[in-house]
Amino acid sequence: MTKMRLNDTIVAISTPVGEGGIGIVRLSGKNSLKIADKVFVSKSRKIPSKFRTYTVNYGHIIDNGQTGKRANGQRIIDEVILTVMKAPRSYTKEDVVEINCHSGIVPLRKTLGLVLKNGARLAEPGEFTKRAFLNGRIDISQAESVLDIIRSKTDLSLKLAVNNLEGLLSKKINDIRDELIDILARIEASIDFSEEEDVFTKRKDIFNKLNKVSKVLEKLISSRDQGKILRQGINTVICGSPNVGKSSLMNALLKESRAIVTHLPGTTRDTIEEVININGIPVVLVDTAGITRTDHPVEKEGIKRSHSSIQRADLILFVLDHARKINKLDINIAKNIKDKDNVIVVVNKNDLKKRIDLERVKKLFPKKTMVYTSAINQSGIEKLEKTIEQLIFKGKAKAPDLVSVSNDRQIQSLCCSSQDTKEAMASLKNRLSMDCIAIYVRSAIENIGHVTGHTITEEALDRIFEEFCVGK
Ligand code: GDP
Repeated sequence: MTKMRLNDTIVAISTPVGEGGIGIVRLSGKNSLKIADKVFVSKSRKIPSKFRTYTVNYGHIIDNGQTGKRANGQRIIDEVILTVMKAPRSYTKEDVVEINCHSGIVPLRKTLGLVLKNGARLAEPGEFTKRAFLNGRIDISQAESVLDIIRSKTDLSLKLAVNNLEGLLSKKINDIRDELIDILARIEASIDFSEEEDVFTKRKDIFNKLNKVSKVLEKLISSRDQGKILRQGINTVICGSPNVGKSSLMNALLKESRAIVTHLPGTTRDTIEEVININGIPVVLVDTAGITRTDHPVEKEGIKRSHSSIQRADLILFVLDHARKINKLDINIAKNIKDKDNVIVVVNKNDLKKRIDLERVKKLFPKKTMVYTSAINQSGIEKLEKTIEQLIFKGKAKAPDLVSVSNDRQIQSLCCSSQDTKEAMASLKNRLSMDCIAIYVRSAIENIGHVTGHTITEEALDRIFEEFCVGK
């Protein structure tokens, strides 16, 4: 991202490009209203600069420079609704104008072009949200949650993201930071202290306070798995020999027919991904091509991908056929996955007569959970969903207060801060000087500040906002 020019007025199409009911051209900056005056004619003939804030106004986007439909030499580009949100009570804390056009590529691009011609510049990815941060309306963790809201896959992941946007995570982080600042002040005050007894009690007092902070940090860090699960979903791979019913099982889970189901082994040549919602947990299902040996180039590619998706999986559903004996291929796949943590053995086709040797399966997977299903009859599917949920949350309450760190950047900053706090405590125990302890506490403050953006580099900022789309 180029260096921010906060004085510019920026513009972007904020809705996905394509045909639709409404498409929005959004402006932000000190000239937003002046530019709107030049391109918008309201029914009442009042200009946007004179509109009251948070008002919605009907009118037309007019290109003054062209001759056409209108007798007075103006050309109508679109019939629109224009909303004015004046600084500082707007998304960016700047003057914001949103023009609701008809959503087609041509009217949106023409309106955008006209606004650009009248002095705005095209916004960079995430620049509206970046301005909200730079102008002090939200902190970085809140800005990141905007992206999480857009990408949320279930009600629960949405709730987590909204809580973070509302500042619940920021409050927790700021409380810890304030506590660390208070500890640092105490350390600095005691550096010149010489009375032996007092030094002893002061060190003890500081140690206890650090210990408290350390516990809160650990708790927050331990929320990461839950946060990550809700944010990114559980990467679940359905694997097994050809024809055991993997695609059918995926369909049963999806409750709709998307993956290819066929009688011929090896027709699911590539991996297919779908997201399902199991009690609020986004589960990303990957149906793999049957892992077998083949010379067919397309199948070879599919098999290669199956192996790599198994390596990346958070959860594996290993499917066996209830109606046939275990074969060499089943055993080969089983060997591949038996040391993985989260494996559920799914014995499918249990509507058919049993021919599988279950004792052998139990020997292959002594500690793994086994679930019986019939993908065709949809039986056992609910049980499978429950088992997935239990395995993922391992008996822990699901999202108790729904405040958790969720992205790697935040987690890394918290881990560094936690490490610094522990080093400070160890230094206290080892009777190191207060100067030395102060260094660790300062570092802990700096690291925790990265989560909310109290302390953040331009480069880190750019990396965060590069992920956003233009117009957000
Ligand atoms: P994949 O190669 O493992 O993905 O297997 P498919 O899902 O393509 O299924 C292979 C065949 O088994 C198809 O004819 C399915 O209709 C059939 N099948 C799948 N699940 C069941 C089941 O639970 N019961 C019965 N009877 N047939 C099934």
